[in-house]
Amino acid sequence: MIPIFCMIKNACFKTINILRDLINVKLITILVPAFNEEDVLHHLHKRLEQVLSSIHDYRFEILFVNDGSNDQTISIIKELREKDPSISFVDLSRNFGKETAMIAGLDHAQGDALIILDADLQDPPELIPEMIYYWEQGYDDVYAKRKSRSGETWFKKTTSHLFYRVLKQMSQVPIQEDTGDFRLLDRRCIEAIKQLRESQRYTKGMFSWVGFNKKEILFDRDPRVSGETKWNYGKLVDLAIEGVTSFTTAPLRFSSLIGMAVSMFAFIYMIWIISKTLIFGEPVAGYPSLMTAILFIGGIQLIVLGIIGEYLGRVFNETKRRPLYFVNEYNGDKSSIYPATA
Ligand code: UDP
Ligand code: MG
Repeated sequence: MIPIFCMIKNACFKTINILRDLINVKLITILVPAFNEEDVLHHLHKRLEQVLSSIHDYRFEILFVNDGSNDQTISIIKELREKDPSISFVDLSRNFGKETAMIAGLDHAQGDALIILDADLQDPPELIPEMIYYWEQGYDDVYAKRKSRSGETWFKKTTSHLFYRVLKQMSQVPIQEDTGDFRLLDRRCIEAIKQLRESQRYTKGMFSWVGFNKKEILFDRDPRVSGETKWNYGKLVDLAIEGVTSFTTAPLRFSSLIGMAVSMFAFIYMIWIISKTLIFGEPVAGYPSLMTAILFIGGIQLIVLGIIGEYLGRVFNETKRRPLYFVNEYNGDKSSIYPATA
């Protein structure tokens, strides 16, 4: 009985979609990257269904990107798709990380606009109507800024706050503070970001870099509904270094300035020592000052080499020009491992 009901529902849905296509109803893609989110997918779908059913005049596509989960995520997505034909999915060949999962979603999104939403409901879907409202007013990128962040530690809040401020100071592109990936992007922004094919991605910076009309809306970030955060401090440090090295060469400039300052200081000190020796004829002494100078300058050299290494590492990775990801399955189709539209 239930399969027949589903078939009829699907057929009706498809017919309605074709009719809406004919009268040009806009399609909005809700992009949900998911990595080991079996606990939250049902909640998410229920909340999304409630919100989306209250928005008329648009068609919706819920696009899940399964980022190589090793739990039941993909089978739950497939099960939800049986019941709800507006669901599509891209199943990646392994875990590539959220940044790559997002570009995979952008490559496969069909919508005239796209909204990026975390699977754990930390980004409330109830904000979607407001985003669409501003999109219709002509904004291309309606981003949600966090007023507050519940369920996150004091340490994470402080470090993240500091990071945004430092990055903003260093880079030429204005990076939005306290803003995640939760936003609506117009097709123009989607097409622009799709052209940025670098493999070490810092998508938050890319949203700013591509420009277009931006509009900020405020929201309170909820704690995770269920499951665990996939970020540990190691990954956050990685992302922070990514953020800095992909958007600014300021650390290189800073290294040169430190180098110059230290050399200048060393030169003045050298003149002082030579004059002292010439005038007073000093015996061999000064072991502590010698050691301090060697260690200090040695330390600075290592830091600077490390910074250069970070940039060189990026150059190395980008010159390989590998595809960003491989697709295991797109809506049940396993015929191609490459993105359908890239
Ligand atoms: N995510 C992903 N791939 C990963 C890690 C995370 O697709 O390798 C997804 C995850 O399923 C969630 C979103 O990215 O939908 C945000 O992850 P999480 O909630 O763990 O991060 P936080 O909110 O703690 O920053
Ligand atoms: Mg989260």
